[in-house]
Amino acid sequence: MRIDILTLFPEMCNAYISESIIGRARKAGKVEIECTDIRDYTKDKHRRVDDTPYGGGMGMIMQVEPVYDCFSALCEKLGAKPHLIYLTPQGKTLTQKRVKELSELANIALLCGHYEGIDERVIEELQPEEISVGDYVLTGGELPALILADAVSRMLPGVLSDDECFEEESHFNSLLEYPQYTRPYEWKGRTVPDVLLTGHHANVDKWRRQQSLKRTLERRPDMLEKAELSKDDLSYLSELK
Ligand code: SAM
Repeated sequence: MRIDILTLFPEMCNAYISESIIGRARKAGKVEIECTDIRDYTKDKHRRVDDTPYGGGMGMIMQVEPVYDCFSALCEKLGAKPHLIYLTPQGKTLTQKRVKELSELANIALLCGHYEGIDERVIEELQPEEISVGDYVLTGGELPALILADAVSRMLPGVLSDDECFEEESHFNSLLEYPQYTRPYEWKGRTVPDVLLTGHHANVDKWRRQQSLKRTLERRPDMLEKAELSKDDLSYLSELK
């Protein structure tokens, strides 16, 4: 899969995508993530890409031409039109379900706004999917684009190692993950639950499933409506209620 990030601040994004799991996955060719500087597409001799808003008001607005020309150049380079996503607080909130669906596409492009946002006409023209990372406002779309690129990348085959499996993680099956422990066995008088030391895999699995159900019921009961629950799960949940 290839992910293109269109941004005025490619170095911000490059720093993140060069490190740790995503950095290793890129080097190993498991995912391609490239950043393009929208500023390279301005025709302004001072490399300006923004201007004041019509009608007055605070802040600057990113202009249509550099954004449009940047995306057009990307389409030409790829020989195809990638699925375009504009990161905006006005979009649909990102979910694990949408992350999984996006990970099945061959190519997505992530458009980052900055300042007060982007001139509406280029949004109308390009008709991107609009995605928000939450009901709060950031200074730019770079962090949201990185959140999306990170979440999508870790769904791709070979990006996580076998012992970093995502299938039991929070949100994957509409459940929150069970609590996790590592050495030391005892810390400040708190010990690791005994069942995890037994080596009895069926009992460990049962304990983890029940912890997962309990946490979801306590913290995010709304999620249980979408979870696939067995008879055992339902009877355990009714004991808790
Ligand atoms: N004036 C815009 C509004 O009220 O909707 C907010 C602009 S924000 C300061 C600048 C840029 O940051 C946006 O164009 C968008 O790309 C990004 N951004 C900010 N908050 C975001 C969020 N919660 N999710 C996704 N992108 C966000």
